[in-house]
Amino acid sequence: LRANFSIIQSETGFVSGLITVLHDVTEQEKIDAERREFVANVSHELRTPLTTMRSYLEALANGAMQDEEIGPRFLKVTQNETERMIRLVNDLLKLSKMDSKDDQLTREYVNFIGFFHHIIDRFEMTKEQHVTFKRKLPNTEIFVEIDEDKLTQVLDNIISNALKYSPEGGQVKFKVKELENMIEVSISDQGMGIPKDNIKKIFERFYRVDKARSRQMGGTGLGLAIAKEVVEAHGGRIWASSIEGKGTTIYFTLPYERSQEDEWS
Ligand code: ADP
Repeated sequence: LRANFSIIQSETGFVSGLITVLHDVTEQEKIDAERREFVANVSHELRTPLTTMRSYLEALANGAMQDEEIGPRFLKVTQNETERMIRLVNDLLKLSKMDSKDDQLTREYVNFIGFFHHIIDRFEMTKEQHVTFKRKLPNTEIFVEIDEDKLTQVLDNIISNALKYSPEGGQVKFKVKELENMIEVSISDQGMGIPKDNIKKIFERFYRVDKARSRQMGGTGLGLAIAKEVVEAHGGRIWASSIEGKGTTIYFTLPYERSQEDEWS
């Protein structure tokens, strides 16, 4: 706690009062420390791909380019790193936009079930691995007031993680449960899982269980942090449950009001 004193004095110099303002410094210090850590993280995250690219480019310049086999391979590495850096900067921009309070959600009533099917279809069309999809979605329409673009981002981030961590032949399960005044969405995989102590941390910015592995797979460490921001902006909650070696489920809720029509039908 920090205190500021102001003395109230009349023109004749007579002290008639004292104003004390107490500030909660600990809160401000915490915010400052978080900001410093964030900037340090961002710098580090950008430096890593840049130093990788520098060494590959140096090797290319020093003759690797003439090698028919190594040349294209090294070029590919620099391309991948560039792509990842672009993703990282785009993710950072999304987060900073959400941090500034003027970024409002553009909400509309959307049939969440149709919307979710559509996103799963897109992944099903383009997935390369032998992973099977299982959908447990209600056969009804459920209208939820959402920002469709932002929730697409949330689902993209969660589903691409589920695919990234799925073993060959694994199953990814999509589920929507209708609760009292919200829906609960979950996406489960049969991947490596997350150690118990780390489960809560995966929603923090830049947190990864295995940094090298995440980078290698093109991750930015921001996907779930963005998902959390968006879900919470909708008034929902996001969490994970996982068993190491068995798989992971990411859950989130979205508030919705059952319309009277629904109740009567
Ligand atoms: P990244 O870009 O590294 O995937 P995310 O924010 O999306 O960043 O996820 C943070 C970390 O959470 C990942 O690096 C990984 O360690 C862990 N994680 C997320 N989803 C899964 C999953 N389905 N299975 C196992 N680990 C996961």
